[in-house]
Amino acid sequence: MGLLTIGSFARASRLSPKALRLYDELGLLRPARVDPLSGYRLYDPRQLEQARLVAWLRRIGMPLARIRVVCELPAAAAAKEVAAYWSQVESDTEARRRLTTFLIDYLSGKDTAMPDARTTLGIRYAVRSDVGKLRESNEDAAYAGPRLLAVADGLGGHAGGEVASAAAIDALRPLDAELPAGDLLNALEHAVRQANDAMRHIAESDPSLRGLGTTLTAMLLSGSQLALVHIGDSRAYLLRDGELFQITHDHTLVQTLVDDGRLTPDEAASHPQRSLLLRAIDGKQSEPDLQLQDAIAGDRYLLCSDGLYTVVSAEKLREVMTAVADPEDVVRKLVDLANQGGGPDNITCVVADVVQL
Ligand code: MG
Repeated sequence: MGLLTIGSFARASRLSPKALRLYDELGLLRPARVDPLSGYRLYDPRQLEQARLVAWLRRIGMPLARIRVVCELPAAAAAKEVAAYWSQVESDTEARRRLTTFLIDYLSGKDTAMPDARTTLGIRYAVRSDVGKLRESNEDAAYAGPRLLAVADGLGGHAGGEVASAAAIDALRPLDAELPAGDLLNALEHAVRQANDAMRHIAESDPSLRGLGTTLTAMLLSGSQLALVHIGDSRAYLLRDGELFQITHDHTLVQTLVDDGRLTPDEAASHPQRSLLLRAIDGKQSEPDLQLQDAIAGDRYLLCSDGLYTVVSAEKLREVMTAVADPEDVVRKLVDLANQGGGPDNITCVVADVVQL
């Protein structure tokens, strides 16, 4: 069969000639031949299948750069890539849904950032940080107070890590004493920006600390809501009705590979680059994840550094958090378990129970 003009090919593929020209320019779908004299694009009927694939991927909202990747893959790998894209869309949508609900309430005058007189919730908390068995110093830092819970895992080695994690906690600490006037998420985001500025100043004033940075996972209680800020590979977990949910997403290379279906979680756990962070508070661009949780009496939260969860399995975490009542006993038990498992890294955990006051 001969080549089709752009008009006939557009009709057959149900794409507009304008779209076809765009896809050509973007390298998504090159014409089989371009007439050297007229410049007309000519298409092979065998290209119809790829044209339809591009059209479908556009309809599910996939960005053009990612479509290019899918088009170059064999069918089975393309299917995986589309699945990975969609699960990312769903998790982004879920985060946006929570923020939207919050904004609607906030703008309708139901100021959820203000304490609600009907529900007086508080937290019962405990915190423990331990150097572990192999490290010489503890570069983790943590904080737990009546409103604020935070874990930071410093990077940069030697003094740098310690300075960085302490600076991040210092930037958040005022939030425990005085609730911000505006909304919680803004307050947390602002604190992260301050921590990020602090990192830059420290690195500039002391060249031996260059390369310092820190993870930060923190929660702030106000009224019936808990705001969460997260950057790096420390984690927050929620124990509700006997089930343990990881509510943060690691900003690591291996997690991205797992999300894309290129590594299994087991392979990620033993990957040589498993601790490589894609995001941290390091004086450069530090964009945290933000989310809101409804504070529900009976919920138990765990914030921890990777020194805990890389050694103690999620099932074991769930078991201890379910079986042990007092938060102080829980953090002691968890640190002991990580040390019994070799304690290769600093171990830090904060456990907090949401309680009716
Ligand atoms: Mg660590």
